[in-house]
Amino acid sequence: DGYSDKFEADRSTVGFDGRYEAVDVEPEALGAWVEKVRRAETLGFNVTIPHKETITRHLDRVEGDGQLTGAVNAVIVESDARGQVHLTGTNTDTLGFRRLLSEEEGCSLEDQRVLLLGAGGAARAVALVALQDGARELWVVNRHVERADRLIADLQQVRQGTATEAVAWHENRLEALLGSATVVINATPIGLASTEMPVDPSPVQASALVVDLIYNPLKTALLRAAAERGLTVLGGLGMLVHQAAAAFERWTEAEAPIGVMRSAAEAALKERTQR
Ligand code: NAP
Repeated sequence: DGYSDKFEADRSTVGFDGRYEAVDVEPEALGAWVEKVRRAETLGFNVTIPHKETITRHLDRVEGDGQLTGAVNAVIVESDARGQVHLTGTNTDTLGFRRLLSEEEGCSLEDQRVLLLGAGGAARAVALVALQDGARELWVVNRHVERADRLIADLQQVRQGTATEAVAWHENRLEALLGSATVVINATPIGLASTEMPVDPSPVQASALVVDLIYNPLKTALLRAAAERGLTVLGGLGMLVHQAAAAFERWTEAEAPIGVMRSAAEAALKERTQR
């Protein structure tokens, strides 16, 4: 995204010398860029806004949660015995989100009443986890409600016991739904590098968990307001680190140095806020 430029790791950390760098690619240049990195020495790359859905047309296949969500955030570059290079897309945001909950809060979405704000790429990952892990209810609240409808329709195949509903952002019911939810998750960019809040957390019940996928700032205005009311809150940094770790492990088949990755992410964020 133009902020962090390069992360270099050496053998002492990960067992090999490697480089991970941020590259700005315009939508119309995506195909040409992908062909440029279709080389045996590339292990893989991550994909972010706005390429998570359009990348799929430049790949040879899409696996697992990438296929289920329709959003790819990691691509694996592999060559076959004849030296032909193949690109496989996957989605590790799902695992990243699941691990954020389990590692940092010791919980899951099983049996929860989940209010999800947003219906974009990140919301797709969260919704898939809610359905796979057996949430009791899932309300997807979005400004363009038809996008929330589409999200729910696309994930029908994995829905088991969860009751799902798309809700338009400005419906009067939002306040009541905030009061019914046991987990509220912001998957919109509202609050990113700003003091805006997507919703006022006042109606949220005291025992609920409020999660913001945003990690810049580490504690968004929404999380600060929720914490002031005594609610449990979680920011998005853990998800960022865990989705990256899952991609690293898929690329290298080695265990990800999670502590090193988290420190690098924290240092990059600190540098960013000081600029
Ligand atoms: P996206 O695909 O562009 O989706 C954005 C969503 O936010 C859409 O549902 C959009 O609604 C909604 N939205 C945007 N501006 C809005 C506004 N002013 N009012 C109401 N709704 C608004 O983006 P994304 O990839 O899902 O990312 C969403 C957020 O999650 C970003 O802040 C990103 O940094 C964060 N994220 C974090 C991680 C992590 O690892 N922690 C991973 C992925 C994403 P419409 O459909 O109505 O436009």
